[in-house]
Amino acid sequence: MALNSRAGLPDLACSANQSLSRVVSLPPVRSALAWLRAQEAQFAQWQLELSRIPAPPFGEAVRSEWLSARFHEVGLADVTIDEVGNVLGVRPGIGGHCISLSAHIDTVFPAGTPLNVRQLGSKIYGPGVSDNGAGVIAMLAVAGAMQVCQVPHALPILFVGNVGEEGEGDLRGMRHLFTASRWKDAILYSLVLDGAGSDTVVSEALGSRRFEVIVRGPGGHSWSDFGAPNPILILARAMNSFAKTPVPSLPKTVFNIGVVRGGTSVNSIPESASMRVDIRSTSMAEMERLEDALRLSLDRAIQEELQVQERRGVAPRRPPSLTSEVVPIGNRPAGELQLNAHVLQVIAAVDSHLGNAAQIHRASTDANVPLSLGREAIAIGGGGSGGGAHTLQEWFDCSGRELGLRRILLALLTLAGVG
Ligand SMILES: [Zn+2]
Repeated sequence: MALNSRAGLPDLACSANQSLSRVVSLPPVRSALAWLRAQEAQFAQWQLELSRIPAPPFGEAVRSEWLSARFHEVGLADVTIDEVGNVLGVRPGIGGHCISLSAHIDTVFPAGTPLNVRQLGSKIYGPGVSDNGAGVIAMLAVAGAMQVCQVPHALPILFVGNVGEEGEGDLRGMRHLFTASRWKDAILYSLVLDGAGSDTVVSEALGSRRFEVIVRGPGGHSWSDFGAPNPILILARAMNSFAKTPVPSLPKTVFNIGVVRGGTSVNSIPESASMRVDIRSTSMAEMERLEDALRLSLDRAIQEELQVQERRGVAPRRPPSLTSEVVPIGNRPAGELQLNAHVLQVIAAVDSHLGNAAQIHRASTDANVPLSLGREAIAIGGGGSGGGAHTLQEWFDCSGRELGLRRILLALLTLAGVG
């Protein structure tokens, strides 16, 4: 069966508004919405506990264990931790497809970062409390509400606390889920919870490709070896040429050279030089075009450097020790939802029902993975408000969290259908 086909799923064929009306008319759903408001103290407690467990990229194991225990507590079935550390739990339903509700459990903070997580009034302070404490707690809150209030739903719901969203994690948790897990073909719609807030919908996946470009040469003395190819000059030529590559404003495509290194002393021809290049776009084709331009700029820069030396008559041939490489150091796929996508209609219906004003955003989140595979996915916030993400001054304000939680629950149930 085609993955995005809604054929054979009559409940999902109804318009989003009709499906939502059915959802909100159910007494257990009304109880669940009230429960979400009443349990704030529990949610804040969970958030403090979670945020006190360090979770640097590739170091999420203790958090995985903590979340797995909470998944049992909120009554999820088949709770497991997979090969890469993702925590999975299910609310069973009917049919071969499912809806996934996920939140990344990793942070950007390296091991050893002082966490000092604390609560003052409605605010929680500490690294990672909002990104992604808010998302993980929202996922637990919704699972808890569904369990306590016996909320019915048709399709199974897969809850995922995934690893590896931030930085060098490079979306490895989500990639694993969509390429190697037993759920990979079953996930019909994905709701990704990332950070605080209720006023955004990320439906455009900002992709990125990052490279380290390294040029190595024989090096030498600036006086006696003059004429040996100079890796810094080669890199400079490559930069100059790459920086002239035209980029479209739609789809917005950008590049940056963020780090340059090389050389040891003013009177030495360097043995190596390197630069780090960041390419971003919502279009895979544009990112590929820029990557090609980068490689071409480097090849030409080497040729030019050799030609210059040849004209000087000092270095007739390319020395075997002159090498270059373009090493990928980051790769996040790009993608975009069609404006008539079902998941966008559902979140719009929910926002209009809740009187919530939200805007479409473009960002790099776990939703990049399903979006790049042509699946329907959005990323939304876990409610409340937050700031200072990726800094030690990060904060989360629980005030108004229930709006975000209601939004998530209603969107999830509308996507899953109520049978
Ligand atoms: Zn995040």
